[in-house]
Amino acid sequence: LREIFVKAFEYSDCRVDDSRLVILNARDAADRGAAIFTRTEVLSARVEMGVWRIRLRDAASGGETEVSARLLVNAAGPWADAVSRQLASAQNPRLRLVRGSHIVVPKLFEGDGAYLFQNPDGRVVFAIAWQEDFTLIGATDVEHSGAPDAVAITQPEMDYLLRASNAHFRRNIGPADVVWSFSGLRPLFDDHAATASRVTREHVVETLEPDGAPLINLFGGKITAYRRLAEEVLRRVGGLIGVRGAPWTARAPLPGGNFPGGDFNAFVQDLRARKPFLDAALARRLAGAYGTQCLHFLGAARESSDLGEEFGGGLTRAEVDYLVAREWARTAEDILWRRSKLGLRLSREAAEKLAACLGERGATALKEGAQ
Ligand SMILES: Cc1cc2nc3c(=O)[nH]c(=O)nc-3n(C[C@H](O)[C@H](O)[C@H](O)COP(=O)(O)OP(=O)(O)OC[C@H]3O[C@@H](n4cnc5c(N)ncnc54)[C@H](O)[C@@H]3O)c2cc1C
Repeated sequence: LREIFVKAFEYSDCRVDDSRLVILNARDAADRGAAIFTRTEVLSARVEMGVWRIRLRDAASGGETEVSARLLVNAAGPWADAVSRQLASAQNPRLRLVRGSHIVVPKLFEGDGAYLFQNPDGRVVFAIAWQEDFTLIGATDVEHSGAPDAVAITQPEMDYLLRASNAHFRRNIGPADVVWSFSGLRPLFDDHAATASRVTREHVVETLEPDGAPLINLFGGKITAYRRLAEEVLRRVGGLIGVRGAPWTARAPLPGGNFPGGDFNAFVQDLRARKPFLDAALARRLAGAYGTQCLHFLGAARESSDLGEEFGGGLTRAEVDYLVAREWARTAEDILWRRSKLGLRLSREAAEKLAACLGERGATALKEGAQ
């Protein structure tokens, strides 16, 4: 930090890799009997004799199918207004979309903690130790008026984050230091607050019954409280079509989260003892991403070569096969940016090799731009 900072306050918090949280929840649901349709769009739904008939389109093949349901839950995040309008002709927009952008730069500080800076505009900006060699700086709070799918950092947001970093860290950074950026939309329930950063972060659940079939709309909501929110929705579902069981998620680990004694570090140590060919960073990455499930693909391997071809960053054929078989990965982009952040480490050639190995035509899916 710059020398002018002489006092700070320290506290503990939690962090999560959001895309891995999503995939592990999908995996968990599938293991418990749910049918997961990735890359599938709800095109429309109509009610026939009190039952929803939902039209789905597979984005890859373009093929359409229809499924039936007694009840629908609309958890379409930033698209929830559009889906509600489509399904129940609900007219009033309930959401306010607030863009948050982040930049990734080479590591600015040692250790794996984070800094939370008080910015002169009254907002906080964080800098988090990220993916071993990088610092993640975010986020912005900007009203978003475009389509929910067109989300990217703007120059003023980039300048804002660079300024916040330079005001606090000794090392000055500029646009050339930014190795990656990403943005997301907060689907916030519109409480008509004056500024984007003041809009409520509380969620709202509402039930509609267009033509006599229930539709539960979910607006807003935080990752932090997602299980509580899911149980709240299930209580509503129970009230509408019958209770199927008691809440159970409060203490249930996600797939791979069943570390003996709940001790992550001990698990990493044990993993290295069982698989001495894994270096410390790779063992931590695999344990962090897959937990105990990494043993599925490390299996009986006694040396690195047993895991097959290596693409870079410790990504081997065995891990790729696991991601395809168990985590619905289809493209190199899925693997390098959504199931992991290895896109930060692989060369373009290596990413192209992975794409070819996955049977993709050309490298168009590598749009996020591995260097
Ligand atoms: C910058 C930023 C920072 C945040 N920080 C925090 C934080 O620190 N702590 C915290 O708890 N939360 C945080 N959040 C909030 C959190 O990320 C969101 O609340 C959470 O991702 C919402 O999840 P969701 O599943 O409801 O929506 P989403 O993750 O947006 O998922 C909605 C899904 O619906 C799909 N969909 C839409 N339309 C259709 C259709 N017609 N057919 C099929 N699928 C469809 C979309 O493809 C998408 O996959 C942050 C959000 C942002 C943007």
